Amino acid sequence: MSSDIALAFFPLAASLFGLLVGSFVNVVIYRVPRGESVVFPPSRCTACGHRIGPLENIPVVSWLALGGRCSSCKAPISVRYPLVELVVGALFALSAIEYGPTLACLAASLLSAVLVAVLFFDLDHLLIPDAFVVPCAILAFAFSATQHHMLDAFEGAAIAGGGFLLIYLATRGRGMGLGDVKLAAALGFALQVRTSVALVAASFIAGAAIALPVLVAGSRGRRDALPFGPFLVIAGLVLVFAPQVAFAPFEAYRHWVQMHGAAL
Ligand SMILES: [Zn+2]
Repeated sequence: MSSDIALAFFPLAASLFGLLVGSFVNVVIYRVPRGESVVFPPSRCTACGHRIGPLENIPVVSWLALGGRCSSCKAPISVRYPLVELVVGALFALSAIEYGPTLACLAASLLSAVLVAVLFFDLDHLLIPDAFVVPCAILAFAFSATQHHMLDAFEGAAIAGGGFLLIYLATRGRGMGLGDVKLAAALGFALQVRTSVALVAASFIAGAAIALPVLVAGSRGRRDALPFGPFLVIAGLVLVFAPQVAFAPFEAYRHWVQMHGAAL
């Protein structure tokens, strides 16, 4: 009975831990491009240099309590900080619900945190640093080790990385950067063959959907205006956490054909 209660609270505990990790992700997104340490010194207000104390550093709660402003100079603090914390917290809860108290949950949670960092970093800088790709690959491989045969991880990475390399070469780097190719390969470690194929296929569709209006409008010079990383991150998260969601339309179609095919 007591273990049932512990299990019921596990997603809640995971989400609280995720909020703290999300707070760290904010620090990483802000400091990595500036070449600053992510551990030291403690955070300061970017406007007035006011040192942010522990009570002002509680994820989400402090931002709400301070009305989204620095306690010292009243400069607005971006809503993105609590948003990142909430997203990471939610992904940790999702991992906990999906995988329970297992190593798979730990790997999937940390992988999702790195991917959130990639998403916002790419939006800001149109760049996916190797400093994010490497931990992503290690965590994706660790996740895979708890879920599939080892061969699946290498096949997934080869298909996702190879597929993206083909898109990269075919578009001469106009559609995406090499960082996207490396991130796809890293994510592929967490995916199996069919989910990797789905990732590449979805990327073709998204790429076309993004490129077509630009081509039709005839505007040029927008090659770098649309970072591909955020899309890759979202597609990767869906495929890692809920591949059944991605495959539902195909399953429904196959079912429909089976039901009606005989009558035709
Ligand atoms: Zn301030």
